[in-house]
Amino acid sequence: LNILDITGVTKRFSFNGEPIVALEGANLTVRKGEFVCLIGPSGCGKSTLLRMIAGFETPSEGRLSMWGAPVSVPGPDRGMVFQDYGLFPWLSVARNVGFGPAARGRPRAEVEATTKRFVDMVGLTRFADAYPHQLSGGMKQRVAIARVLANEAEVVLMDEPFGALDAMTRENLQRELLEIWERTRLTVLFVTHAIEEAILLADRIVVMSPGPGRIVADERVSLPRPRD
Ligand code: ADP
Ligand code: ADP
Repeated sequence: LNILDITGVTKRFSFNGEPIVALEGANLTVRKGEFVCLIGPSGCGKSTLLRMIAGFETPSEGRLSMWGAPVSVPGPDRGMVFQDYGLFPWLSVARNVGFGPAARGRPRAEVEATTKRFVDMVGLTRFADAYPHQLSGGMKQRVAIARVLANEAEVVLMDEPFGALDAMTRENLQRELLEIWERTRLTVLFVTHAIEEAILLADRIVVMSPGPGRIVADERVSLPRPRD
């Protein structure tokens, strides 16, 4: 069984009465533990595909399933990381990270242990009580990553997550993300328009093309990475 099966997915929007085909006939199969980069120019439907997997949008045609079950609504098993972080500004780092398990009524000791584990994993132990406005962009994105991990995401959907960061911070986060991926065996779908970022991160690159959005190539990157 595949963690994700996307079959014949088309998404149409209507904008000011004009139809827009954001994505046409997309087929994609993802196996557990793959790090897939989706690349392509602006407007080729990358975000639309990610948002449908997240359950934020429903397809006009076709099917999306996770472990064989249709995905239709958002769920903690598919965590999204946005370019603009999307943290809760009124919650501390620890409360942002622990938000999902706490909201789902997990016992306090478990929430605290999970929070600590993932705050530590992204290197923010000293900042657990800080608030988002006190953090740099890179730190905010580390919180967002810890939050989806603490929420037991099996698939991490990342929409140009490092696009707003300076080059040095971006390189640090790319390296840290690969370390986390190698440790956790998470499945990652990572949207970028930067080919060099895709080559660095992915073990598989899916290329999309606009007008209408289509998947035009799907290639395995042959650089072997340490996996267990
Ligand atoms: P990408 O992420 O590759 O830049 P998007 O998935 O954001 O592409 O967009 C693909 C196409 O769908 C674009 O033409 C965009 O304008 C259109 N689109 C995306 N979301 C909507 C929406 N909610 N309403 C209307 N058009 C949309
Ligand atoms: P207080 O607000 O006085 O800390 P609570 O009963 O709200 O009391 O929370 C007790 C503890 O449980 C907190 O100190 C915190 O460590 C943990 N906790 C509660 N909610 C969350 C959360 N959303 N994320 C992380 N930790 C939480």
